[in-house]
Amino acid sequence: MLTHGPIQSALRHEGGLTRRLFLAQAAAIAALPAFAAARPGPVGRPAFDTDPFRLGVASGDPSEDGMVLWTRLCPRPLEPDHGMPQEAVAVRWEIAENESMSRGVRRGTTLATPQLAHSVHVEVTGLRPGRTYWYRFHAGGATSPVGRTRTLPPRESLPAKLRFAFASCQHLEHGHFTAYRHMAAQDPDFVVHLGDYIYEGPGKEGQVRRHTGPEKGRLQTLRDYRIRHSQYRSDPDLQAMHARCPWWVTWDDHEFDNNYANTVPDNKDTDPATFLIRRAAAYQAYYEAMPLRSSCIPAGPDLRLYRGMAFGRLAEFQILDTRQYRTDQPNGDGPKPLNAAALDPANSLLGREQRNWLDSRLIASQGRWNVIAQQVMMGMVARVPKADGAERTYSMDQWPGAAHERMALARFWQDRRVPNPVVLTGDIHSNWVNDLRVDDRIGDSPVVATEFVGTSISSGGKGGLAEAELGKLQAENPCVRFFSRERGYVLCTVTPEQWRSDYLAAEDVTQPNGPVVLRRSFVVESGKAGAIKA
Ligand code: FE
Ligand code: CA
Repeated sequence: MLTHGPIQSALRHEGGLTRRLFLAQAAAIAALPAFAAARPGPVGRPAFDTDPFRLGVASGDPSEDGMVLWTRLCPRPLEPDHGMPQEAVAVRWEIAENESMSRGVRRGTTLATPQLAHSVHVEVTGLRPGRTYWYRFHAGGATSPVGRTRTLPPRESLPAKLRFAFASCQHLEHGHFTAYRHMAAQDPDFVVHLGDYIYEGPGKEGQVRRHTGPEKGRLQTLRDYRIRHSQYRSDPDLQAMHARCPWWVTWDDHEFDNNYANTVPDNKDTDPATFLIRRAAAYQAYYEAMPLRSSCIPAGPDLRLYRGMAFGRLAEFQILDTRQYRTDQPNGDGPKPLNAAALDPANSLLGREQRNWLDSRLIASQGRWNVIAQQVMMGMVARVPKADGAERTYSMDQWPGAAHERMALARFWQDRRVPNPVVLTGDIHSNWVNDLRVDDRIGDSPVVATEFVGTSISSGGKGGLAEAELGKLQAENPCVRFFSRERGYVLCTVTPEQWRSDYLAAEDVTQPNGPVVLRRSFVVESGKAGAIKA
């Protein structure tokens, strides 16, 4: 493994991280572990002594005429070299109209290279819109499982129905991914993952399962992050869900580092150069592990993940990245009053470029429903005060930490008459339904959007309904319609007239194969923001 010593000393020599030096080094950081380690020469044709497709297959980011098909040659997921030679390997792929693969429509060969951990990202084109397809890969005499995927409906059509699931926060040590087994049986059109796909902490004793990797401290190197992704993707329920339908993924903090803000670490003692090199490693491992398009290939510590898509004219989705470009949390990360520091217009979770992109996407949208898929809670929810008369506090890691930007977004949706804004959120390991106003503290102002916060797949372990807590939260906050601390996911059924969110609850993720039940359902009628209990 190469070290980044020269980069670090150069950065120190310049007296810190200047933009010029940062840009000069960014490409080098990405290239270092990759090209220097690769042996030139012919393409390898390894005869695998164990299945190279142990991480399964996946598809993602569908368009009207294609999608990304993903796999990774990884015969030994938890070993440092993953059981692969330091050379490129030819991988054949095929996509067909039927599950037995007899009616093939496209095929090709691509190279899995050690620079990208022998991951394969095939961007298929030329397929028909709104159709289901099946795909598989071949390498070194081995054949992958067959995955199923689907193109988006025609851009100008108005589909009668969309059914999709969204999920977040799957701490492997805290529980089983039971929710995905239930989700697979529901057969959604696609999955939206809102982040905390992996967690970066060390292995701990006494958990349901145990992280491999560093015994102490968080993941640091590209190798660390790759092995962690391999461990998570070895989970059979997660793997099966990826093979079932396309996914739209975005990240939150734990794919890299808890509560980070752009280049600002959680641990303020961290050397900034070390932190950026680590960010490059985390981002590269994320790209390698996910069915993402080549537009998401990282350049050093930068990876553009925010993007949009249209499900015909029924719904447009804007998928955001509220980590990479945000300003540091004001007042520290914890619950704090909405004071001048929190309301400072300079605070941002989106950064100027992403904010402009989002506004222009929403202005141009033809969607009946306008979905903002993102990470942290938008509802400006005051915590239950510890004592009578205590000052109200809000999470500074969530949108209240950028309260000015948060209120400007909602005002934009209201002023521009953006049709039916619906916000999807993860991060906090609890379910919430919130009616969003421009300023949620003013209960008699109009509701402009509806927020569905989905709980964790497993993070937090066995949860509960927390009905008493819901009552206290509602007494303080006019926006809160539902809250629970159960594990699970949310299934959404969208028609031109109505949005329905079903909250599915896994009863005990600390036990394998536990039951999943429908806990609550809420609907939103088109043209009328705010959730109605179904
Ligand atoms: Fe989380
Ligand atoms: Ca998080």
